[in-house]
Amino acid sequence: MRKPIIAGNWKMFKTRDEALFFILKVSEKMPEKEKVDTVVFAQAPLLRCLITRQGEELRIGAQNIFYEDEGAYTGEISGPLLESYNVEYVLIGHSERRQYFHETDEDVNKKIKAAIRNDLLPIVCVGEKLEERENNLTNDVLERQIKNAFKDIPAIEMKDIVIAYEPIWAIGTGKTASAEQADEACGFIRSQIKKLYGPVVSEGIRIQYGGSVKPANIEELISKENIDGALIGGASLDPDQFIEMANAPL
Ligand code: 13P
Repeated sequence: MRKPIIAGNWKMFKTRDEALFFILKVSEKMPEKEKVDTVVFAQAPLLRCLITRQGEELRIGAQNIFYEDEGAYTGEISGPLLESYNVEYVLIGHSERRQYFHETDEDVNKKIKAAIRNDLLPIVCVGEKLEERENNLTNDVLERQIKNAFKDIPAIEMKDIVIAYEPIWAIGTGKTASAEQADEACGFIRSQIKKLYGPVVSEGIRIQYGGSVKPANIEELISKENIDGALIGGASLDPDQFIEMANAPL
């Protein structure tokens, strides 16, 4: 049985006061860690003040990591820095990073290696564009993204990795993939992991769905066989909605 993982991606939202208000409001209402993992991914400057207030249940994650551990890379965030703040999770390869910051599959691969090197747990995002889905290229895109992301990553490391399937056409559009479409794509991703690593790894790895998840649709999505949780953007900004969604797997 895979433990569900419900994560909020705040993207470039929330000031310090708004973030603190959120943490104060939701902390007591998170599900037990034994039953559900919950994480919020905040902008980097918020990490320090949030981490000191994180409880056992709600963990704080970073939205990005650079693939080198140090050097002349102005504006980037290093793995050793994140680790020194006790950050546990890091988001890698979000479609917005791929689109606006031109991150490639190769960058994603190097960033996963940097996360592993620095004891961070990566949530690796994959997903197709609308035109790719319309041209029946969804599986080709997912196969390529998975194969390249996990190039030279040993099987032993895969137990700590989470994959998020986020079809780009469903992000921030209010247009959720149907539970069947999401389950089918997550099942396909699992089959690719099986091809690369065998059945033990593929049955153990957690795969989330992301794209317009909200309290009204989360239960149906996570009830599907291959969907082990959700990565939530817009709806995760609201404390009450996040509390409801974090408790949805119970
Ligand atoms: P929305 O939930 O706002 O569609 O965003 C999804 C997402 O990109 C999470 O990483």
